[in-house]
Amino acid sequence: MLNLRVTIDSRSGFCFGVVKAIGRAEKSLAPGRPVYSLGSIVHNEEEVSRLKTSGLIPIKHADLEQIHDSKILIRAHGEPPETYELINKNNNEIIDATCPIVLKIQDRIKRSTDAGEFVLLFGKPDHPEVIGLAGQTNGQALVFANFEDIDLDTLPGKLTLFSQTTMSLDAFYSVRDQLIARGFEVNMQDTVCRHVSGRRADLREFAGNHDVIVFVAGSESSNGKVLFAVCAEANARSHKVSSADEIEPHWFNPGESVGICGATSTPQWQMEEAARRLRMM
Ligand code: SF4
Repeated sequence: MLNLRVTIDSRSGFCFGVVKAIGRAEKSLAPGRPVYSLGSIVHNEEEVSRLKTSGLIPIKHADLEQIHDSKILIRAHGEPPETYELINKNNNEIIDATCPIVLKIQDRIKRSTDAGEFVLLFGKPDHPEVIGLAGQTNGQALVFANFEDIDLDTLPGKLTLFSQTTMSLDAFYSVRDQLIARGFEVNMQDTVCRHVSGRRADLREFAGNHDVIVFVAGSESSNGKVLFAVCAEANARSHKVSSADEIEPHWFNPGESVGICGATSTPQWQMEEAARRLRMM
């Protein structure tokens, strides 16, 4: 036996918006009647397939026209108004699991637009949350992922600046500073979600406090790649796995401390499975 000392990072795993969305999904599921999730409820294949066996079926936007008289779940990222219209048109029931934080930001963006403000939205243009936020402006928001992408000559002198919730706080403030430096009057609305923005610093500290790190995340999770890089920088003995079976005994020496952590899309049960496997080694 290796007698490893195993700790799960209490700050890793789903943010509260995703926990809430999964709770809503589980509550709405009943035997024999599927619920369709518009997009994957979380970027984690194992969790998506666990929910699929209970009847939560992921669909794409292109499938929406064909779905009638069913239950459709809107995930934590939210959706633009057109999606609600399409779902309702086909007599479907909406299970709205949009994160309450995202809902509030949608509302603020809508109010800014209605008040005639020029909305600049810092985020990835094809990210579902950004599509939902920009959808509150009737296509009038200017969405950009890098300051260099903005055509400054087309902007009015006065701007209202919002951000996708998962953008880097430093990058967002840098955009604001660059706009001000070029003479724009900026009404900044800090909409970066604090449930994720503090994760890097927390993880760096956690990774530095253990002999070995096991980082659990789905292979598709972009947040997982970024956060694993943070761990690897703080602790060279960091290993990324997508499930507990990928953990190799030769990574550890007897009696070492092992920290288990993960991305914002890693379910708690996957980290617990990893802990069980390590304790059996
Ligand atoms: S706004 Fe924050 S809490 Fe809500 S889903 Fe996004 S990251 Fe999670």
